[in-house]
Amino acid sequence: MGSSDEHHTLHIFFFPFLAYGHIIPTVDMAKLFAEKGVKATIITTPGNAPFISKAIGKAKTNNNQIQIQTINFSSAEVGLPDGLETTDSITNPCMIEPFFMAISLLQEPLEQLLLKQRPNCVVADMFFPWATDSAAKFGIPRLVFHGTSLFSLCATTCMRFMDPNNDVSSDSESVTIPNLPGEIKIARTSLASYGTGTDMNNLLKEAKESELRSYGIVVNTFYALEKDYADLYSKVLGRKAWHIGPLSLCNRDIEEKAHRGKDASVHEHECLKWLDTKKPNSVVYVCFGSTTRLPDSRLREIAIGLEASGQPFMWVVRKSKEDGVEWLPDGFERRMEGKGVIIRGWAPQVLILEHNAIGAFVTHCGWNSTLESVTAGVPMITWPIFADQFFNEKLVTEVLKIGVPVGAKKWIGLEGDSVSWDAVEKAVKRIMNGGEAIVMRNSAMELSKLARRAMEEGGSSHSDLIALIEELSSITF
Ligand code: UDP
Repeated sequence: MGSSDEHHTLHIFFFPFLAYGHIIPTVDMAKLFAEKGVKATIITTPGNAPFISKAIGKAKTNNNQIQIQTINFSSAEVGLPDGLETTDSITNPCMIEPFFMAISLLQEPLEQLLLKQRPNCVVADMFFPWATDSAAKFGIPRLVFHGTSLFSLCATTCMRFMDPNNDVSSDSESVTIPNLPGEIKIARTSLASYGTGTDMNNLLKEAKESELRSYGIVVNTFYALEKDYADLYSKVLGRKAWHIGPLSLCNRDIEEKAHRGKDASVHEHECLKWLDTKKPNSVVYVCFGSTTRLPDSRLREIAIGLEASGQPFMWVVRKSKEDGVEWLPDGFERRMEGKGVIIRGWAPQVLILEHNAIGAFVTHCGWNSTLESVTAGVPMITWPIFADQFFNEKLVTEVLKIGVPVGAKKWIGLEGDSVSWDAVEKAVKRIMNGGEAIVMRNSAMELSKLARRAMEEGGSSHSDLIALIEELSSITF
């Protein structure tokens, strides 16, 4: 496979789903493979190419073989506004179906590229279940990238074996996930949107089936973090999995760390300068990822809770200057001057988390944010919003014991999903003060060391990456 002059260069296509939480780690992954001499091609749409290009800028100048190949996203064809090419631009639920329709239209251009370039492997996101068959048409192995934790992959797999009428252990409020190590109980309401026969659930089912026919999965995690679940996935469920994270660690200097994702709304130096004025472990960082837009009522509760906690904070909000300040309590910004900052838009998250002033992270438990917090050694206040985030919360609070839940039990938008300001205040005080806080911080610091060790030469993730490259080389040349 490949032309004769490329014989010994493994060529991999990386094809991320069109959401920042999937593109960012996939670009990191492509950089990691490229560093090891693999030719990496990132497949994306024209609207996403510029920020990806910025993110890989440095890798390119280091002569790594990494390129971007664009394929068109048919927004107009499915009735979406021109330029809507990532999930965070979906402002109305009625846009979801056409968005996924346009996603399925990416299959043909992908196949044309496969025909033309004949890579040795395709690492395609779980949201492209058809990619296994597309790759198979050309005799190319497909690896799946889910973008979530092994814990959550195991939990969803175990849930599928659960008899809804006869759970292993259940009451009206919670169920124990059968066969999942750790006796994990989860609120029924936080599972509400799984298994209801919606289009999304059909897609998830197809994704699972396609994974079973694929070559295996690559996971943004490290073995020591999720040992029991890594073993369950490979030894018990019999799936081939390579754990090659934390992927964010492939970004080594300030510039690389600052240019993941959108352009930051605040200059990284300004952000770090403000944090420099604060005591170690004193600042609460608050961010709900790239996609979630909390309603004003919820933002207000967060503001009141943060103020009541008395702790300095750095809070990222999906608002612009034009949105005014009506969503904040009266006089909030004036009272908080010097004590707290609000970043409207996008923040250089990895840099912020690594600053020693950060003492806790209020997170929605998106897997990237969760792992970035682990990597930085920062304990979390967990506030899941939807999907796998409720599972990731359980990993953080009950298995790793480096976080406290704020008490969210329902997917956002469902009746009764609210969390009040006093729960925010209570969680902040619990994670910042007292003996329990010290234990959690020490555990988080230990995990941070293990995370870094995993990525070093001889570490588990580094070894898995090398083993995967060697295996792909041996089966494809
Ligand atoms: N992120 C960032 N700045 C922001 C918001 C998000 O750098 O202001 C990055 C964050 O570091 C992470 C990703 O965007 O890498 C979000 O992924 P995650 O899985 O946490 O959540 P999602 O956006 O998928 O809900």
